[in-house]
Amino acid sequence: MYNRVALVGLGLIASSMFWAMKRAGIEAHVAGYARSAQTRDTAREIGLCDSVHDTLAACVTDADLVVLCVPIGAMEAVAKEIAPFLAPGATVTDVGSVKRAVIEAVGPHLPDAVHFVPGHPLAGTEHSGPRSGFAELFDNRWHVLTPNGADTQAVAQLRAYWEALGANVDEMEPDHHDLVLAVTSHAPHLIAYTMVGVADDLQRVTNNEVVNYSATGFRDFTRIAASDPTMWRDVFLTNKDATLEILGRFTEELFALQRAIRQGDGDHLHEYFTRTRAIRRGIIDAGQDTAAPNFGRRS
Ligand code: NAP
Repeated sequence: MYNRVALVGLGLIASSMFWAMKRAGIEAHVAGYARSAQTRDTAREIGLCDSVHDTLAACVTDADLVVLCVPIGAMEAVAKEIAPFLAPGATVTDVGSVKRAVIEAVGPHLPDAVHFVPGHPLAGTEHSGPRSGFAELFDNRWHVLTPNGADTQAVAQLRAYWEALGANVDEMEPDHHDLVLAVTSHAPHLIAYTMVGVADDLQRVTNNEVVNYSATGFRDFTRIAASDPTMWRDVFLTNKDATLEILGRFTEELFALQRAIRQGDGDHLHEYFTRTRAIRRGIIDAGQDTAAPNFGRRS
Protein backbone atom coordinates (compact mmCIF):
# COMPACT_ATOMS: atom_id res chain seq x y z
CA MET A 1 0.00 0.00 0.00
CA TYR A 2 2.36 2.76 1.26
CA ASN A 3 5.85 2.31 2.74
CA ARG A 4 5.98 5.36 4.99
CA VAL A 5 2.93 7.31 6.17
CA ALA A 6 3.51 10.72 7.79
CA LEU A 7 0.79 11.88 10.18
CA VAL A 8 1.16 15.62 10.69
CA GLY A 9 -0.56 16.64 13.94
CA LEU A 10 -1.31 13.93 16.51
CA GLY A 11 -4.85 14.56 17.72
CA LEU A 12 -8.13 12.64 17.57
CA ILE A 13 -8.10 11.95 13.84
CA ALA A 14 -4.41 11.10 13.45
CA SER A 15 -4.35 8.84 16.50
CA SER A 16 -7.48 7.03 15.29
CA MET A 17 -5.83 6.58 11.88
CA PHE A 18 -2.76 5.07 13.52
CA TRP A 19 -4.77 2.57 15.59
CA ALA A 20 -6.96 1.72 12.59
CA MET A 21 -3.83 1.12 10.47
CA LYS A 22 -2.41 -1.24 13.08
CA ARG A 23 -5.74 -3.04 13.36
CA ALA A 24 -5.79 -3.47 9.58
CA GLY A 25 -2.28 -4.91 9.63
CA ILE A 26 -0.91 -2.20 7.33
CA GLU A 27 2.84 -2.62 7.53
CA ALA A 28 3.92 0.91 6.59
CA HIS A 29 6.19 2.80 8.95
CA VAL A 30 4.07 5.52 10.55
CA ALA A 31 5.93 8.74 11.32
CA GLY A 32 4.16 11.30 13.50
CA TYR A 33 4.78 15.01 14.00
CA ALA A 34 3.43 17.13 16.85
CA ARG A 35 4.40 20.72 17.54
CA SER A 36 4.24 20.51 21.36
CA ALA A 37 6.61 18.50 23.54
CA GLN A 38 3.65 17.45 25.66
CA THR A 39 1.88 15.80 22.73
CA ARG A 40 5.10 14.14 21.57
CA ASP A 41 5.73 12.78 25.08
CA THR A 42 2.19 11.42 25.28
CA ALA A 43 2.55 9.82 21.84
CA ARG A 44 5.77 8.07 22.88
CA GLU A 45 4.22 6.95 26.17
CA ILE A 46 1.18 5.32 24.56
CA GLY A 47 3.03 3.92 21.53
CA LEU A 48 1.32 6.22 19.07
CA CYS A 49 3.32 6.09 15.80
CA ASP A 50 6.43 4.09 14.96
CA SER A 51 8.55 7.24 15.19
CA VAL A 52 7.67 10.63 16.68
CA HIS A 53 9.32 13.79 15.30
CA ASP A 54 9.70 17.33 16.47
CA THR A 55 10.28 18.76 13.00
CA LEU A 56 8.03 18.57 9.97
CA ALA A 57 11.03 17.91 7.74
CA ALA A 58 12.04 14.76 9.63
CA CYS A 59 8.46 13.50 9.65
CA VAL A 60 7.64 13.86 5.95
CA THR A 61 11.03 13.01 4.41
CA ASP A 62 10.75 9.80 2.32
CA ALA A 63 7.02 9.47 3.07
CA ASP A 64 4.89 8.27 0.17
CA LEU A 65 1.72 9.36 1.98
CA VAL A 66 1.52 12.59 4.01
CA VAL A 67 -1.71 13.27 5.92
CA LEU A 68 -2.30 16.78 7.27
CA CYS A 69 -4.25 16.33 10.54
CA VAL A 70 -3.99 19.87 11.93
CA PRO A 71 -6.73 22.53 12.30
CA ILE A 72 -7.71 24.13 8.98
CA GLY A 73 -6.16 27.45 9.95
CA ALA A 74 -2.75 25.77 10.36
CA MET A 75 -2.74 23.93 6.99
CA GLU A 76 -1.15 26.66 4.88
CA ALA A 77 1.86 27.20 7.15
CA VAL A 78 2.41 23.44 7.38
CA ALA A 79 2.15 23.01 3.58
CA LYS A 80 4.74 25.76 3.02
CA GLU A 81 7.15 24.19 5.49
CA ILE A 82 6.89 20.58 4.24
CA ALA A 83 7.00 21.42 0.50
CA PRO A 84 10.82 21.26 0.07
CA PHE A 85 11.00 17.85 1.79
CA LEU A 86 8.25 16.01 -0.09
CA ALA A 87 9.35 13.04 -2.18
CA PRO A 88 8.45 13.20 -5.89
CA GLY A 89 5.40 10.98 -6.52
CA ALA A 90 4.22 11.21 -2.90
CA THR A 91 0.54 11.72 -2.15
CA VAL A 92 -0.46 14.55 0.17
CA THR A 93 -3.93 14.45 1.68
CA ASP A 94 -5.66 16.11 4.61
CA VAL A 95 -8.60 15.45 6.91
CA GLY A 96 -9.92 19.02 7.21
CA SER A 97 -13.65 19.52 7.67
CA VAL A 98 -13.83 22.16 4.91
CA LYS A 99 -12.46 21.43 1.44
CA ARG A 100 -12.38 24.56 -0.78
CA ALA A 101 -10.43 26.57 1.81
CA VAL A 102 -7.89 23.77 2.32
CA ILE A 103 -7.39 23.37 -1.44
CA GLU A 104 -6.73 27.11 -1.75
CA ALA A 105 -4.44 27.19 1.30
CA VAL A 106 -2.38 24.07 0.59
CA GLY A 107 -2.46 23.45 -3.20
CA PRO A 108 -0.34 26.41 -4.37
CA HIS A 109 2.56 25.49 -2.07
CA LEU A 110 2.98 21.87 -3.14
CA PRO A 111 5.51 20.87 -5.83
CA ASP A 112 4.09 19.66 -9.18
CA ALA A 113 5.63 16.22 -8.67
CA VAL A 114 3.35 15.55 -5.68
CA HIS A 115 -0.26 14.32 -5.88
CA PHE A 116 -2.63 16.40 -3.74
CA VAL A 117 -5.86 14.52 -2.96
CA PRO A 118 -7.85 16.38 -0.28
CA GLY A 119 -10.19 14.37 1.96
CA HIS A 120 -12.50 14.50 4.94
CA PRO A 121 -13.54 11.64 7.25
CA LEU A 122 -17.16 12.13 8.31
CA ALA A 123 -16.34 10.73 11.71
CA GLY A 124 -15.42 12.37 14.95
CA THR A 125 -16.16 12.92 18.59
CA GLU A 126 -16.10 15.94 20.87
CA HIS A 127 -12.76 14.77 22.30
CA SER A 128 -9.35 15.93 21.11
CA GLY A 129 -5.69 15.16 21.57
CA PRO A 130 -3.44 12.11 21.15
CA ARG A 131 -5.22 10.01 23.78
CA SER A 132 -8.67 10.41 22.25
CA GLY A 133 -8.24 8.20 19.18
CA PHE A 134 -9.59 4.67 18.71
CA ALA A 135 -9.34 2.14 15.90
CA GLU A 136 -13.08 1.93 15.21
CA LEU A 137 -13.66 5.65 14.58
CA PHE A 138 -13.94 5.30 10.79
CA ASP A 139 -15.83 2.00 10.69
CA ASN A 140 -18.72 2.27 8.23
CA ARG A 141 -18.36 6.08 8.16
CA TRP A 142 -17.98 7.99 4.91
CA HIS A 143 -14.64 9.37 3.86
CA VAL A 144 -15.12 12.03 1.18
CA LEU A 145 -12.30 12.64 -1.29
CA THR A 146 -12.33 15.85 -3.35
CA PRO A 147 -9.61 14.98 -5.91
CA ASN A 148 -10.10 18.16 -7.95
CA GLY A 149 -8.36 16.65 -11.01
CA ALA A 150 -5.65 14.71 -9.12
CA ASP A 151 -3.93 11.67 -10.65
CA THR A 152 -6.43 8.78 -10.81
CA GLN A 153 -3.95 6.16 -9.63
CA ALA A 154 -3.05 8.24 -6.56
CA VAL A 155 -6.78 8.67 -5.84
CA ALA A 156 -7.42 4.92 -6.20
CA GLN A 157 -4.53 4.13 -3.83
CA LEU A 158 -5.81 6.59 -1.22
CA ARG A 159 -9.32 5.19 -1.57
CA ALA A 160 -8.01 1.67 -0.86
CA TYR A 161 -6.10 2.99 2.17
CA TRP A 162 -9.21 4.58 3.74
CA GLU A 163 -11.26 1.47 2.97
CA ALA A 164 -8.65 -0.55 4.87
CA LEU A 165 -9.20 1.81 7.82
CA GLY A 166 -12.88 0.83 7.80
CA ALA A 167 -14.42 3.73 5.89
CA ASN A 168 -16.71 3.87 2.86
CA VAL A 169 -15.15 6.22 0.33
CA ASP A 170 -16.97 8.68 -1.91
CA GLU A 171 -15.83 11.49 -4.22
CA MET A 172 -17.33 14.97 -4.45
CA GLU A 173 -16.66 18.40 -5.87
CA PRO A 174 -15.14 20.57 -3.10
CA ASP A 175 -17.92 23.21 -3.15
CA HIS A 176 -20.60 20.54 -3.06
CA HIS A 177 -18.86 18.91 -0.09
CA ASP A 178 -18.81 22.24 1.76
CA LEU A 179 -22.54 22.81 1.14
CA VAL A 180 -23.51 19.28 2.22
CA LEU A 181 -21.39 19.54 5.37
CA ALA A 182 -22.83 22.96 6.18
CA VAL A 183 -26.25 21.25 6.39
CA THR A 184 -25.24 18.05 8.14
CA SER A 185 -22.49 19.25 10.47
CA HIS A 186 -21.51 22.92 10.52
CA ALA A 187 -24.93 24.59 11.01
CA PRO A 188 -26.03 21.96 13.59
CA HIS A 189 -22.86 22.65 15.59
CA LEU A 190 -23.54 26.38 15.54
CA ILE A 191 -27.12 25.79 16.66
CA ALA A 192 -25.88 23.58 19.51
CA TYR A 193 -23.35 26.22 20.55
CA THR A 194 -26.16 28.79 20.58
CA MET A 195 -28.60 26.65 22.56
CA VAL A 196 -26.00 25.86 25.19
CA GLY A 197 -25.05 29.54 25.31
CA VAL A 198 -28.71 30.47 25.90
CA ALA A 199 -28.98 27.87 28.67
CA ASP A 200 -25.78 29.21 30.20
CA ASP A 201 -27.31 32.71 30.29
CA LEU A 202 -30.46 31.30 31.89
CA GLN A 203 -28.41 29.32 34.37
CA ARG A 204 -27.84 32.50 36.29
CA VAL A 205 -31.55 32.89 36.92
CA THR A 206 -32.44 29.24 37.38
CA ASN A 207 -30.11 28.39 40.22
CA ASN A 208 -28.21 25.51 38.58
CA GLU A 209 -31.41 23.73 37.48
CA VAL A 210 -30.23 23.66 33.86
CA VAL A 211 -27.37 21.37 34.81
CA ASN A 212 -29.14 19.37 37.52
CA TYR A 213 -32.21 18.58 35.43
CA SER A 214 -30.61 18.51 32.00
CA ALA A 215 -32.84 16.40 29.77
CA THR A 216 -31.60 14.28 26.89
CA GLY A 217 -32.23 16.94 24.23
CA PHE A 218 -30.11 19.49 26.04
CA ARG A 219 -27.48 16.91 26.94
CA ASP A 220 -27.03 16.07 23.25
CA PHE A 221 -26.54 19.76 22.51
CA THR A 222 -23.92 20.05 25.26
CA ARG A 223 -22.00 17.09 23.84
CA ILE A 224 -21.81 18.76 20.44
CA ALA A 225 -21.02 22.15 21.99
CA ALA A 226 -18.08 20.61 23.86
CA SER A 227 -16.22 20.15 20.54
CA ASP A 228 -12.78 21.67 20.06
CA PRO A 229 -13.01 25.51 19.92
CA THR A 230 -10.05 25.94 17.55
CA MET A 231 -11.32 23.40 15.05
CA TRP A 232 -14.82 24.88 14.99
CA ARG A 233 -13.66 28.47 14.85
CA ASP A 234 -11.71 27.52 11.71
CA VAL A 235 -14.68 25.68 10.20
CA PHE A 236 -16.91 28.78 10.43
CA LEU A 237 -14.18 31.14 9.24
CA THR A 238 -13.50 28.98 6.18
CA ASN A 239 -16.97 27.67 5.23
CA LYS A 240 -18.61 31.05 5.63
CA ASP A 241 -20.87 31.26 2.56
CA ALA A 242 -22.39 27.78 2.78
CA THR A 243 -22.93 28.05 6.53
CA LEU A 244 -24.59 31.47 6.24
CA GLU A 245 -26.83 30.15 3.42
CA ILE A 246 -28.00 27.23 5.59
CA LEU A 247 -28.43 29.42 8.68
CA GLY A 248 -30.63 31.76 6.60
CA ARG A 249 -32.89 28.84 5.69
CA PHE A 250 -32.84 27.62 9.29
CA THR A 251 -33.99 31.04 10.53
CA GLU A 252 -36.91 31.02 8.04
CA GLU A 253 -38.02 27.57 9.23
CA LEU A 254 -37.66 28.64 12.84
CA PHE A 255 -39.93 31.64 12.21
CA ALA A 256 -42.49 29.36 10.55
CA LEU A 257 -42.50 27.03 13.57
CA GLN A 258 -42.69 30.03 15.91
CA ARG A 259 -45.77 31.22 14.01
CA ALA A 260 -47.36 27.75 14.18
CA ILE A 261 -46.84 27.66 17.95
CA ARG A 262 -48.24 31.19 18.39
CA GLN A 263 -51.29 30.36 16.23
CA GLY A 264 -51.83 26.97 17.89
CA ASP A 265 -51.41 25.26 14.50
CA GLY A 266 -51.01 21.68 15.78
CA ASP A 267 -51.43 20.19 12.29
CA HIS A 268 -48.39 22.09 11.02
CA LEU A 269 -46.26 21.04 14.00
CA HIS A 270 -47.36 17.39 13.76
CA GLU A 271 -46.74 17.22 10.03
CA TYR A 272 -43.31 18.83 10.45
CA PHE A 273 -42.22 16.51 13.25
CA THR A 274 -43.44 13.46 11.31
CA ARG A 275 -41.24 14.49 8.39
CA THR A 276 -38.17 14.96 10.61
CA ARG A 277 -38.75 11.64 12.36
CA ALA A 278 -38.59 9.89 8.98
CA ILE A 279 -35.18 11.47 8.36
CA ARG A 280 -33.89 9.98 11.61
CA ARG A 281 -35.19 6.57 10.56
CA GLY A 282 -33.44 6.96 7.21
CA ILE A 283 -30.11 7.61 8.94
CA ILE A 284 -30.48 4.49 11.09
CA ASP A 285 -31.53 2.41 8.05
CA ALA A 286 -28.42 3.66 6.20
CA GLY A 287 -26.28 2.27 9.06
CA GLN A 288 -24.97 5.74 10.02
CA ASP A 289 -26.28 5.57 13.61
CA THR A 290 -28.08 3.14 15.88
CA ALA A 291 -31.49 3.33 17.48
CA ALA A 292 -29.88 2.85 20.93
CA PRO A 293 -30.52 5.74 23.33
CA ASN A 294 -26.80 6.59 23.51
CA PHE A 295 -26.74 6.84 19.71
CA GLY A 296 -24.07 4.16 19.64
CA ARG A 297 -21.39 6.60 20.75
CA ARG A 298 -18.52 5.71 23.02
CA SER A 299 -19.06 7.29 26.42
P1 NAP B 1 -7.03 17.69 17.68
O1 NAP B 1 -7.36 16.43 18.38
O2 NAP B 1 -7.27 18.99 18.36
O3 NAP B 1 -5.49 17.64 17.21
C1 NAP B 1 -4.93 18.68 16.45
C2 NAP B 1 -3.44 18.46 16.25
O4 NAP B 1 -2.94 19.56 15.46
C3 NAP B 1 -2.61 18.43 17.52
O5 NAP B 1 -1.56 17.51 17.36
C4 NAP B 1 -2.02 19.85 17.58
O6 NAP B 1 -0.76 19.91 18.18
C5 NAP B 1 -1.84 20.16 16.12
N1 NAP B 1 -1.84 21.60 15.86
C6 NAP B 1 -2.75 22.51 16.24
N2 NAP B 1 -2.43 23.73 15.78
C7 NAP B 1 -1.27 23.57 15.08
C8 NAP B 1 -0.41 24.45 14.39
N3 NAP B 1 -0.71 25.75 14.29
N4 NAP B 1 0.71 23.94 13.80
C9 NAP B 1 1.00 22.63 13.88
N5 NAP B 1 0.23 21.73 14.55
C10 NAP B 1 -0.89 22.20 15.13
O7 NAP B 1 -7.76 17.79 16.27
P2 NAP B 1 -8.58 16.72 15.42
O8 NAP B 1 -9.96 16.60 15.98
O9 NAP B 1 -7.76 15.51 15.20
O10 NAP B 1 -8.75 17.55 14.06
C11 NAP B 1 -7.72 17.63 13.11
C12 NAP B 1 -8.34 17.95 11.75
O11 NAP B 1 -9.35 16.99 11.49
C13 NAP B 1 -9.00 19.33 11.65
O12 NAP B 1 -8.63 19.93 10.44
C14 NAP B 1 -10.49 19.02 11.66
O13 NAP B 1 -11.21 19.93 10.85
C15 NAP B 1 -10.54 17.61 11.07
N6 NAP B 1 -11.66 16.77 11.53
C16 NAP B 1 -12.00 16.71 12.85
C17 NAP B 1 -13.08 15.93 13.24
C18 NAP B 1 -13.51 15.85 14.69
O14 NAP B 1 -14.63 15.45 14.98
N7 NAP B 1 -12.66 16.22 15.62
C19 NAP B 1 -13.79 15.17 12.28
C20 NAP B 1 -13.37 15.22 10.96
C21 NAP B 1 -12.31 16.02 10.57
P3 NAP B 1 -0.51 19.96 19.79
O15 NAP B 1 -1.18 18.74 20.37
O16 NAP B 1 0.96 19.90 19.88
O17 NAP B 1 -1.13 21.23 20.25
